[in-house]
Amino acid sequence: PRLANQIAAGEVVERPASVVKELLENSLDAGATRLEVDIDNGGIKRMKVHDNGKGIEREDLPMALARHATSKIHALEDLEAVATLGFRGEALASISSVARLSLTSSRDESGKGWQVSAEGRDMQAQLAPAAHPRGTTVDVRDLFFNTPARRKFLRTEKTEFNRIDDTIKRLALSRFDVSISLRHNGKGVHNLRAGSGRVEMERRVAQVCGPAFMQNALHIDVERSGLRLWGWVAEPAFSRSQADLQFFYVNGRAIRDKVVSHAVRRAYADVLYHGRHPAFVLYLELDPASVDVNVHPTKHEVRFRDGRLVHDFLFGSLHRALADVRP
Ligand code: ADP
Ligand code: MG
Repeated sequence: PRLANQIAAGEVVERPASVVKELLENSLDAGATRLEVDIDNGGIKRMKVHDNGKGIEREDLPMALARHATSKIHALEDLEAVATLGFRGEALASISSVARLSLTSSRDESGKGWQVSAEGRDMQAQLAPAAHPRGTTVDVRDLFFNTPARRKFLRTEKTEFNRIDDTIKRLALSRFDVSISLRHNGKGVHNLRAGSGRVEMERRVAQVCGPAFMQNALHIDVERSGLRLWGWVAEPAFSRSQADLQFFYVNGRAIRDKVVSHAVRRAYADVLYHGRHPAFVLYLELDPASVDVNVHPTKHEVRFRDGRLVHDFLFGSLHRALADVRP
């Protein structure tokens, strides 16, 4: 189990942001509608995620940290299979193998729950009663305290925090129905209220991308031959660096894709903005059967069955929309 955990940890736990991402995905899987994220020192010292999801049964708590750890990797030959299939069931085990982790949870409104904690490879999955509202808190401290070689690959606290912030932003723009707060070193960074109406969504986009983005943004919503593209595109002139104001979702999933970025870049360059970074928050919706999202479990990649159709639809829709805002 130790070997398995440490190998898996290499994939799942690259840096603080990848820990936060896994924890938030677990919270969403548990049906949470409120996520509270507390970060200290870029996440290296502490990452705490509190949710109001369905919680974990007392007897399942130790399992949550340990399970699947041995079921996937029996021999080196299995590594290849794991690399392609991903590490389902490995996240908490992996994180707890390279940090000090406590998992506290309650399934009901009694205010009482249970806590289990583990430190590095010496997993002492001790169960203890703990006060906790319905939901789950995962508290991760001292990342890589037992693997100094890995800790050396971490960047500055500021850089690591920015990556966490990016992770939160990307999530925030895909789940308008979930309220999200982020604090760093005790200071509030985001406090995003849930709401799926147009006004509430635009308020969140402004909070995440900055008010200048929203003031310069054009709302679009185009549908053609089973494809729908909606969201906001903005004139990049409002700011010098918009490289980080590029959010693209396919069927609700954040992705990076060559077909997509080429179509977007060409549409912008063609109409308005030569050599500049486009700024956008865009959602492409299409028949799930015409897109393969399992190309790589951690890299946010997709493969379109008909890349040409998607490219032309994106280019055409954006081209028309941007032409409309040309002064
Ligand atoms: P996976 O998510 O792939 O099942 P993880 O290691 O990320 O594996 O989590 C292990 C298990 O712990 C989950 O399957 C789930 O049962 C439980 N769990 C983890 N986080 C939460 C949470 N925030 N709320 C409820 N259950 C959770
Ligand atoms: Mg998980």
